[in-house]
Amino acid sequence: MHRYDVLIIGSGLAAATLALSLPDSMKVLLVTKKMPEDSSSYWAQGGIAAVMGSDDSFDEHVRDTLVAGAGLCNEAVVRRVVEAAPAALHWLIEQGAPFDQEGDGYHLTREGGHSRRRILHARDATGRAVQDILLGRVRARANVTLMSQHIAIDLITDRRLAGREAEGLDDSVRGAYVLNTLSGKVETISAGFPVLATGGAGKVFLYTTNPDTATGDGIAMAWRAGCRVANLEFVQFHPTCLYHPHAKSFLITEAMRGEGALLRLPDGSRFMPEHDERAELAPRDVVARAIDSEMKKRGLDCVYLDITHKPAKFIVSHFPNIHARCLELGIDITREWIPIAPAAHYTCGGVRVDPSGRADAAHLYAIGETSCTGLHGANRLASNSLLECLVYGRAAANDIAAQTPSPALPLPSWDESRVTDADEEIVIAHNWHELRRFMWEYVGIVRTSKRLERASHRIKLLNDEIDEYYRNFRVSNDLIELRNLVLTAELIVNSARLRHESRGLHASRDYLGLLPEARDTVLTPL
Ligand SMILES: Cc1cc2nc3c(=O)[nH]c(=O)nc-3n(C[C@H](O)[C@H](O)[C@H](O)COP(=O)(O)OP(=O)(O)OC[C@H]3O[C@@H](n4cnc5c(N)ncnc54)[C@H](O)[C@@H]3O)c2cc1C
Repeated sequence: MHRYDVLIIGSGLAAATLALSLPDSMKVLLVTKKMPEDSSSYWAQGGIAAVMGSDDSFDEHVRDTLVAGAGLCNEAVVRRVVEAAPAALHWLIEQGAPFDQEGDGYHLTREGGHSRRRILHARDATGRAVQDILLGRVRARANVTLMSQHIAIDLITDRRLAGREAEGLDDSVRGAYVLNTLSGKVETISAGFPVLATGGAGKVFLYTTNPDTATGDGIAMAWRAGCRVANLEFVQFHPTCLYHPHAKSFLITEAMRGEGALLRLPDGSRFMPEHDERAELAPRDVVARAIDSEMKKRGLDCVYLDITHKPAKFIVSHFPNIHARCLELGIDITREWIPIAPAAHYTCGGVRVDPSGRADAAHLYAIGETSCTGLHGANRLASNSLLECLVYGRAAANDIAAQTPSPALPLPSWDESRVTDADEEIVIAHNWHELRRFMWEYVGIVRTSKRLERASHRIKLLNDEIDEYYRNFRVSNDLIELRNLVLTAELIVNSARLRHESRGLHASRDYLGLLPEARDTVLTPL
């Protein structure tokens, strides 16, 4: 058994911010299931929102966030995050974040839903620039141990230690079981404060902009440890993800529509003007719904984005990365339309936490996309998510530093009796694909009660099968992820079935209107 003061699960912006904000005196372990760079944070393009300009104000950033959140944001949380943003950004700049500059200040860009220029960015690859700096610093910290290729399987709780029948016992988290995916050994980690910084759950859906790591692990682990989750029905879909067999998860920026690109059906006709008077310039969720409806109505796998009417020089200079990536795949975007489909992009809901990132179970924290803080409500405002990682990473660090870790308890080793290797990878792969496809078709951009019911039924069957696998076979990375994906999918479907209205990102054909009062969907484990 290994003992640490803090166990951080994940290596995205939330995890790195926390690791660097904890005092040097604390012994910290950071585990990440692939390489440290495998995270949504590393892939983030646009930037981070904060009030930095003299023509901007906290009130305006708060208002923009509340409008995007469709009445469901927690206003006190929004204000706290918005007001904490400039200091968090200055901290990031002190760490060495290379944001684009203009004159003697920073270049601020503007994104959909923001009434002012307030996005700090490093060209069109902000996440990579920031994470390269922070991960370098994490590696240099003497008090932090970083382990790649280590996937957390489950949290170790008092209830688990006492046996499941110990009803009524308030759960306290003591550590986690972590699989070293290279050696196949499961390690027992005891920690005063375990922190879930595991990112979102885009991989629940067939099409996603997220990296392969986004399998809802933190949400599932917290739920199994007895914590509430909230607002999981709100999944943000990005309207334009490249549709190509060899390009998983490549985002085509919305700025391309901003520069005049048109959406077309395979026969060349436009469809956006029929859906919204703003046509291609309608907000992200409206465009995603329109594309989804055309694809479903016509049985299409994709539609097309056409920017060929602009001069080639303009296209190459404005969209160098997209131009280069598409060219690698044989698509010259100066002459050809880009095949696109909407894709799951951001998980607004997650583990319910307080302003310091504390989850329900004692000693457990959840920060970043895996959490539900109340900031995003029913729809996330662009560039507020990286901000949330920063603000909550710092808040959790302060809260942890102010406490004395509980004494280490002896924790039992992982039960190695399940030594049989499952030689049924094909079954795991099949279930994985089946889940992602029906979640896309039944629980995607536009929902109906009937489709949600169907999804719920299919999930029950999958759950039984996965449960049997999990109980009987040696755990593997794929099995752990599939188990978490199925549970997260179930929580998403259950949340969606409880919302009898269309609000923000949750659109239901059976409940078209808004209820008079906006309420969180909170699920409580039995
Ligand atoms: C393509 C793309 C572009 C985006 N652009 C922007 C943008 O411009 N601005 C913005 O604000 N937001 C953007 N977002 C959203 C933003 O990037 C994410 O919300 C944010 O990075 C989440 O950070 P995180 O630290 O919570 O999780 P992540 O960065 O996803 O990190 C999660 C980490 O946890 C690890 N992990 C997961 N499960 C386990 C486990 N069981 N055991 C061990 N490790 C585990 C993963 O491997 C990963 O390292 C974008 C997202 C994508 C996908």
